[in-house]
Amino acid sequence: MQMPVPIPVALEPAILEKAACAPHPAALSPQRKAELVARIKQLLVEKDAVLVAHYYTDADLQQLTEETGGKVADSLEMARFGHAHPARTLVVIGVRFMGETAKILNPEKRVLMPDLEANCSLDLGCPADEFNDFCDQHPDRTVVVYTNTSAEVKARADWVVTSGIALDIVRHLHEKGEKILWAPDKHLGRYVQRETGADMIRWEGSCVVHDAFRTDALAELKKKYPEAKVLVHPESPESVIDLADVVGSTTTLIQAVQSMDAKTFIVATDNGIFYKMRSLAPDKMLLEAPNRGIGGSCESCAHCPWMAMNSLENLAEVLQAGRNEITLDEGIRRKALVSTQRMLEFAAGRKGK
Ligand code: SF4
Repeated sequence: MQMPVPIPVALEPAILEKAACAPHPAALSPQRKAELVARIKQLLVEKDAVLVAHYYTDADLQQLTEETGGKVADSLEMARFGHAHPARTLVVIGVRFMGETAKILNPEKRVLMPDLEANCSLDLGCPADEFNDFCDQHPDRTVVVYTNTSAEVKARADWVVTSGIALDIVRHLHEKGEKILWAPDKHLGRYVQRETGADMIRWEGSCVVHDAFRTDALAELKKKYPEAKVLVHPESPESVIDLADVVGSTTTLIQAVQSMDAKTFIVATDNGIFYKMRSLAPDKMLLEAPNRGIGGSCESCAHCPWMAMNSLENLAEVLQAGRNEITLDEGIRRKALVSTQRMLEFAAGRKGK
């Protein structure tokens, strides 16, 4: 059997520098916030637009999205909702690959983003040319990529997966006897491999937020709150996953807070998720899992620097001007559609069971 050959991926210093601090959007006066919210609501109607936001974005943006009939969700649900909604313009509040996914599925719609520079360390750490070389070295493997990748990388893949469906799809492929080439998140890949027993080789990318959760400090926190349940996103290191009571996608973790009997939860994922958890389960106590942050400069700054680039102010500007549109090469889009659609059809089939 061919031995797994992990590909080391060193993030450029510029990427790390950009990720070094994750400020929340500048605090606005109540009056300024009210003006912006009113303006955005009006523009959404005028422009026939709907908001689709990720759980990791700022609480004001999540609230506005829901108030205006949009959707706050994980990547899979964002894609599904944008596809099904009749609005001619989708405004994706999240990071670049989410906007690209919306465009892959909706070529006839205009897809705007508050900031086109809002990216993701997984996407940035998996350049399409290097990834194509990696695939060329393993032509016998089925290529499965996490949705946190560019349209070019998706175009090379056989399957796209989200964290919510990765286990089911890889298990399905494994049962068919297929060998997997996985990219780009090494921790999620290792977790999927461990749970499914699939024959996988992995790209060695990571998320700057989840990679920084601290095992020892989490174990200490668990001792301090022995009754607390630990919820972990599988982009986290294996040693952190090993301390979890629940491992899963953002949606799974939110459901766990709602449905489990425990009153206290320690949460190892981006702290933007606390807005949704608190609104659905206000009686529960939520603690942030300790995170070293970039450069070990803070105890807990588990917030994505790119998600934090979305704000009420740049959302209003983009809607007003109609700029920051996502455009894709049509050949790439069509190829990326095949691997993305495969996931959506698999998910729909599983839902129907
Ligand atoms: S939290 Fe991590 S995986 Fe999510 S967008 Fe930010 S860098 Fe990417």
